Amino acid sequence: MSMPFIDLAAQQRRIRDKIDAAIAKVLDSGAYVMGPQVREFEARLADFGQAKLALSCANGTDAIALPLMAWGVGPGDAVFCPSFTFAATPEVVPWVEATPVFVDVLPDTYNLDPAKLEAAIAAVKAEGKLTPKVVIAVDLFGQPADYPAIRAICDREGLKLIADSAQGFGCTLNGRHPLHWADVATTSFFPAKPLGAYGDGGAVLTNDQTLWDLMDSYRVHGKAVGPDLDGKTFDHDPKYLNTRIGMNSRLDTIQAAILLEKLAIFAEEIDLRQVVANRYAEGLKGAVISTPTVIAGGVSVWAQYVIEHQNRDGLAAHLKTLGIPTAVYYPVPMHVQAPYAHFPRGPEGLPVTEAKARTVLALPMHPYLSETDQATIIDAIRGFNG
Ligand SMILES: *Cc1c(COP(=O)(O)O)cnc(C)c1O
Repeated sequence: MSMPFIDLAAQQRRIRDKIDAAIAKVLDSGAYVMGPQVREFEARLADFGQAKLALSCANGTDAIALPLMAWGVGPGDAVFCPSFTFAATPEVVPWVEATPVFVDVLPDTYNLDPAKLEAAIAAVKAEGKLTPKVVIAVDLFGQPADYPAIRAICDREGLKLIADSAQGFGCTLNGRHPLHWADVATTSFFPAKPLGAYGDGGAVLTNDQTLWDLMDSYRVHGKAVGPDLDGKTFDHDPKYLNTRIGMNSRLDTIQAAILLEKLAIFAEEIDLRQVVANRYAEGLKGAVISTPTVIAGGVSVWAQYVIEHQNRDGLAAHLKTLGIPTAVYYPVPMHVQAPYAHFPRGPEGLPVTEAKARTVLALPMHPYLSETDQATIIDAIRGFNG
């Protein structure tokens, strides 16, 4: 037998009629770029994430770049982020010619370690070459970072905070979404993310209208936005007034229409993911394996269900022979990847990140994982003695 790692088909079977109708409506309308579904989706997404505003864009990578551009982060600026993350998190920092500074994570939640963040900021200040500007916290595998602690550090140091919630959109801490603490929360609609489209997409959530306007400008070639036009008259279409150097990063109308249908069932899917996570925790209890720890007061959206095993590769091979797919996120931390190896790190290095890269293993996880398939997975793991 064989089972999928993430079963996107099960979700599609559930809402296929609605998706087909939503796509047909876009095709009939002809508004393929920035159609009304885009604004509607932005409004619904903002509501879901307890935000005043959401700005959709082409992918979750651009979503992190847009606030950096709008804040004018650039050469000589330090942006602190984990190394135990997907490449997109640090990748956007050199785009604006700023410098990523890699910080280690906590051994239980895999999220940014506030004490190590403080040490890294102090070291950068002591060295005096870079100016600390931004922290990017990642909601790795779906659970919120320690936002109260990280926000307190950012406030004390005068830093902006980005919540990279590409894996964690929908997660909460004490009932609040990451934007409660962060200046912006970003997410990705890559199909395998908890809230995925049928193609690429992303969004930035914020409570700051001025920032939203600026990011709106950067998203469409630096077009003139509200404040650029106020009190001015033009002898040409101001649409072609480019007031800054931007990019082209729009969410397709078709993807927005699809996402509206997916968002409608997302809260329920988060609950279903929790049921699956609970079954894993129960079934794997007592096995020689660590199951995930979620921060106190936190609700994970379980983008991944990650266990640890000292013979990780042996276990993965054993499961593969039984038709059970697994994945390793992430086998090579960003700070040791060739293009990133020269960037600075926190003063004590990243021993936790390096150790976790050798032991973590993600199991099949999606809202529609059946009890039978899950029992098969649990039995297979329990049956491995290697
Ligand atoms: C997927 C992901 C991104 C980037 O999203 P894309 O839509 O693929 O560009 C950024 N950060 C993290 C942590 C991710 O997992």
